[in-house]
Amino acid sequence: MKFNEYKYERPDINKLKEEIDLISLKLSNSKDFNEALELLKESENIIDKFNCMYDLAMIRNSIDMSDEFYDKEMEFFSEEAPKFTSSTTNLSKVIVNSKFKNEFINYYSLQWFKLKEISLKTFNDSIIPDLTKENKLVNEYDKLIAQAKIEYDGKINNLSQMAKYSSSSDRNVRKEAAIKVAEYMSSIEAKVDEIYDELVKVRTSMAKKLGYKNFVELGYLNMNRTDYDSKMVKVYRDQVYKSVVPVAKKCIELQKENIGIDDLKFYDIPFFFKDGNPVHGKTKDELLKAAKDMYKKISKYTDEYFNYMCDNELLDLETKPNKSRGGYCEFVPYYNFPFIFSNFNGTTADVDVLTHEAGHGFQVYTAAKYLKSKEIVWPTYEACEIHSMSMEFIAHPYMENFFGNDADKYRYKHLSDSITFIPYGVAVDEFQHYVYENYDASIADRKNMWRKIEKKYLPWKDYDSIDYYTNGAFWHKQGHIFSSPFYYIDYTLAQVCAFYFYLLDLSNHDECLNKYYNLCKMGGSYSFIELLEKNNIINPFIEGSLDNIMAPLYKQLLKLKDKAIK
Ligand code: ZN
Repeated sequence: MKFNEYKYERPDINKLKEEIDLISLKLSNSKDFNEALELLKESENIIDKFNCMYDLAMIRNSIDMSDEFYDKEMEFFSEEAPKFTSSTTNLSKVIVNSKFKNEFINYYSLQWFKLKEISLKTFNDSIIPDLTKENKLVNEYDKLIAQAKIEYDGKINNLSQMAKYSSSSDRNVRKEAAIKVAEYMSSIEAKVDEIYDELVKVRTSMAKKLGYKNFVELGYLNMNRTDYDSKMVKVYRDQVYKSVVPVAKKCIELQKENIGIDDLKFYDIPFFFKDGNPVHGKTKDELLKAAKDMYKKISKYTDEYFNYMCDNELLDLETKPNKSRGGYCEFVPYYNFPFIFSNFNGTTADVDVLTHEAGHGFQVYTAAKYLKSKEIVWPTYEACEIHSMSMEFIAHPYMENFFGNDADKYRYKHLSDSITFIPYGVAVDEFQHYVYENYDASIADRKNMWRKIEKKYLPWKDYDSIDYYTNGAFWHKQGHIFSSPFYYIDYTLAQVCAFYFYLLDLSNHDECLNKYYNLCKMGGSYSFIELLEKNNIINPFIEGSLDNIMAPLYKQLLKLKDKAIK
């Protein structure tokens, strides 16, 4: 069935609540495991259908934010969904205390059970008004960013459309575009600060109501982290500072050489080669054709999956006015399909969507075939990003499909960007720890701290005296800080694992693909560290682990540079 043919119906929350509450009651009185399992499956069906309707509304709203119908439906979910959560949390309580606990663990998995336990620690009815407020604030932020209208180059551009100027070969264009973006961001700066301040307050309030000292522990639980804590993350960040930052600095030095610029400014960072960045120069349909061919060559599994996505129109790729920013992959339960959303802008990022988001899609498409519950199709977030970021590297040998003679340039730029990304991701994480541990800090304190952390992890960032950035507001553009606190570190943990897959792929392609497929199949039936251990993948929390991979990666980068720059 094509995406547009899936029918949306606003869920009747009161009716669904009654149904779940009745199941909870029956389950707590159940004396027979098979009967209990049947009840649980019935509840899963109801929850899947509810989530499915939410996903359909969310996807259609993100495709056209000016469509009043889905805008209203999203408002409905913001306000009413927490009431439904109240019933499903009660159901989790019954499951956690059930005498069939061990049977459930055997049937589903221990990780599935631990997620139920976590849901009890992250919610009670007293925080419903806070959750509603949090949702509203995040929507407000999203709208401010999505509605950017920046006049440049004779047209009105949104922020995604401005990205293509940031890699222009003309330094003046890069600089002018950067100034235009900074001007727009300055115009909403006070409003964004106010929204974030409110978000910190409301999150701290929820944490306190649930019995935590501040939002950090609750934030970790909200991310479903069952096997690591903020102390382990600190050890990891310190490793990044020690082992990755020096290599990232060398990457930047190479780049300065490549483009012949000594006084590298922040707007030069996206520009990689004197004669221009790699360009695909392809239309959406040509890119899709290139991706189809690539997935056919990678394996029969990826081939089947990508044809399914195309045949059922489960990709919305081109940027359009009123489309929400960024890109994502969603898994829609009940109907059981992945959906990929992005804003193609003519840069190499378009190809990253067809590998990164398509990697997510492949994982959920695969896991949904094997796992007994849709709740564990996705693993926790850091594990999810391994599938997507590794696919970016598994795709390397096929880049001629997209870039022709520029393929080596792409491979070099992609590896360099991936290395320098880790310190940035870690900076975003350290900043959020500061913010939520010091929830009384002022708006100015936060900006000072951001600038300090930036200087520590990204010492090459020179903002060319643009006040907006030198005053410490760069993070205003980083949506995750607003919508998904503590998410960002996950990308960097996964990046380390993706480097592991990349190095394996270079030495043993078949082993890499088998291991990758096996990891995808497991979905979220295990925790992050268990998934790594079961598949013998690098564990970024272990001291010294990053040191082991940075040297071979830098060697590979030099090899790619020689091929890319002739
Ligand atoms: Zn991703």
